[in-house]
Amino acid sequence: MTEYTETQKRCWAEISPENLLHNVRALRAALPEGCRFLGVVKADAYGHGAVETAKLLEGAGADYLAVACLDEALELRAAGVTMPVLILGHTSAAYTGALIEHDITQAVAGPEEAEAFSAAAQEYGGTLRVHMAVDTGMSRLGFLCTGGDFDRGVSELARACSLPGLDVEGVFTHFAVSDEPGEENERYTREQYRVFTAVIKAAERQGVHFAIRHCMNSGALLHYPEFALDMARPGLLLYGYGDTEGKLGLRPCMRLMTRLLTVKTLTPGTTVSYGRRFTAERETRLGVLGIGYADGLPRLCSNRCAFALGGGTAPQRGSICMDMCMVDLTDLPEAKPGDEVEIFGPAVDLNALAAAAQTIPYELLCAVSKRVPRVIKTFKEDSE
Ligand SMILES: *Cc1c(COP(=O)(O)O)cnc(C)c1O
Repeated sequence: MTEYTETQKRCWAEISPENLLHNVRALRAALPEGCRFLGVVKADAYGHGAVETAKLLEGAGADYLAVACLDEALELRAAGVTMPVLILGHTSAAYTGALIEHDITQAVAGPEEAEAFSAAAQEYGGTLRVHMAVDTGMSRLGFLCTGGDFDRGVSELARACSLPGLDVEGVFTHFAVSDEPGEENERYTREQYRVFTAVIKAAERQGVHFAIRHCMNSGALLHYPEFALDMARPGLLLYGYGDTEGKLGLRPCMRLMTRLLTVKTLTPGTTVSYGRRFTAERETRLGVLGIGYADGLPRLCSNRCAFALGGGTAPQRGSICMDMCMVDLTDLPEAKPGDEVEIFGPAVDLNALAAAAQTIPYELLCAVSKRVPRVIKTFKEDSE
């Protein structure tokens, strides 16, 4: 039988284990001695492949993994990942048995959820390991402890910690603007931290003990090293993004690639793609690439981005289609069909592409669709 391996190489994502391990080392070096390390691998490890990433983190000596939901946790367990896994999002108490059976740690979003998990764990005849979520200003999951809700929040938290069937291992909160510059954002983040530590103190005065207190997402790791507590919880930084000032020397772990499919020369005045949103002003060597919005290249980037090939850059032209898009190769006369093109990675800044799509790098990493095969590969840093 013929193996059509080349047909899969219309577009692909190269994942570099070396760069991930480099980033883990760089992040650990930035943390205080004894601080535990949790790697956030939700959303298929931000598009990099959850199982592969989890195994690399396990090998690198990470202490914990975090995912968003039960299915993501079960995927790791099914692949033989045995290290502690925390579900950051909400899980219905109906699945308490599965959580206990697979030794998965669950975040508790509030008093009702604590009651429901406690009842379900007792009915199942087991103990559920939990981390209590504290809402200090994100207004998402967690025991609400801001402003006038402090005292009630703390007593609900302390009560939840005493419920049968729950093994309370940790407590955590999540920052809203730890990654954004400016005085007001710093004030807000420091206030979230102050509330978090005050909640812990007040709960401990009521006899509760938390072995693992954690709040440090990527933004906090970069900008508030003094918030490490017992564990850091980075996601984006692991994958090489978010350190816009280059403080930590991180390396991108994903390189999104495609191929130049065909090339033709357009006479001036010819329009390109759906909506005719680009007109060739000069004689234009136009290349067609095998990547489109169904692969995760946002249509909003149309006419606003450029990709790397053959040591140069090719501006993208016309509306990005579902499976293809066009580039101007006039200034790259060497470029020929079959050439590899980098959409983002070491040579093309994902942050710029995200800005063109009016979004953040997180969204573009997660948007790389399942049709794009992930290929484990060492790619050289441009800077090396
Ligand atoms: C996603 C997430 C993280 C990781 O965030 P980054 O900004 O990628 O570091 C940490 N904690 C919680 C609760 C999250 O949901």
